[in-house]
Amino acid sequence: MQAIQILTTGSADVLTLRDIPTPTPGPGEALIRIEASGVNFIDTYFREGRYPAQLPYTLGQEAAGIIVAVASDVSTFKAGDRVAWCGIPGTYAQLAIASAARLVSIPEGISFQQAAGVLTQGITAHYLSHSTYPIQPGDEVLIHAGAGGTGLLLIQMAKARGARVFTTVSTEAKAELARAAGADEIILYTREDFAEKVKKLASGPGLPVVYDSVGKTTFEKSLTVLRPRGLMVLFGGASGAVPPFDLIRLSTMGSLFVTRPTMKDYIATRADLESRAKYIFDGISSDTLKLRLEYIYPLADAAHAHRDLESRKTTGKLLLIP
Ligand code: NDP
Repeated sequence: MQAIQILTTGSADVLTLRDIPTPTPGPGEALIRIEASGVNFIDTYFREGRYPAQLPYTLGQEAAGIIVAVASDVSTFKAGDRVAWCGIPGTYAQLAIASAARLVSIPEGISFQQAAGVLTQGITAHYLSHSTYPIQPGDEVLIHAGAGGTGLLLIQMAKARGARVFTTVSTEAKAELARAAGADEIILYTREDFAEKVKKLASGPGLPVVYDSVGKTTFEKSLTVLRPRGLMVLFGGASGAVPPFDLIRLSTMGSLFVTRPTMKDYIATRADLESRAKYIFDGISSDTLKLRLEYIYPLADAAHAHRDLESRKTTGKLLLIP
């Protein structure tokens, strides 16, 4: 089968289309023929070596497809079932192995592309807005990178929970998308100081929460827009990793809280995985959650997809089709 692997870490140039043996499911696992694989920013961290991986490594952690075979001890799924999964490496490929305990059924009416396009970013947006900081009606919240895949979904969920949403984007075109998703105040952080603007627009002495996936270039200023005892949710580092930080500074800035959440801890139980997946699939079925699938590439063009994502060219979700 064909797969996109890295033999060494580096730029998008290291992504290589290779013929590799079809894997065999072990106990508790399924073999799935992939119809669509999601491209996520985390894939670039593995490619660069920011997150360690054993080489050669098949990139990608999210896909949707049809089960080809299951191990003899798997009774929850069978060959022919339409399934999606996330957080399991090896999805930039024609076939992949996943633990049956981590698969979700794709409801009727949801396409493979929608399922692969929404799972990681939808679950992330869900746990951020419902669990990491459960947004309350009237909360003023800041969401960075509001026109990105995760950002557009998080804006919609924050609005559904009754928030007034501030968001940052780099271009006018992205501002339009963030506005269409429901954002109330859109700040072009390439042109103006986002922290000053938020402080000017906020109705109280700072915000209860900032959702920051940009990291290096936004972290410090994001802290300054929080109210006393506010929560900084650093959930990614699209601009690079945040440098070491002296925790004593949290006390002088207003007894702030900082968390660095990751999806696996919020879908650790089957109940959590199913309830978050149900929320996003129901949202798509009822058209209350809009998914932007604009960037679709053949598997062989994975490097192109990475370059587009990293150059901030894309909005919404990127998919690879094997
Ligand atoms: P996006 O579609 O949001 O793309 C990243 C966006 O970040 C860009 O479009 C860009 O928007 C913004 N950005 C700001 N600075 C830079 C920079 N220097 N280089 C590149 N982009 C920059 O990607 P995803 O939705 O896939 O992921 C968003 C973030 O969420 C990532 O940091 C990812 O790691 C994180 N994430 C975390 C998860 C978790 O559980 N912790 C799970 C899923 C995603 P603009 O042009 O408007 O600035």
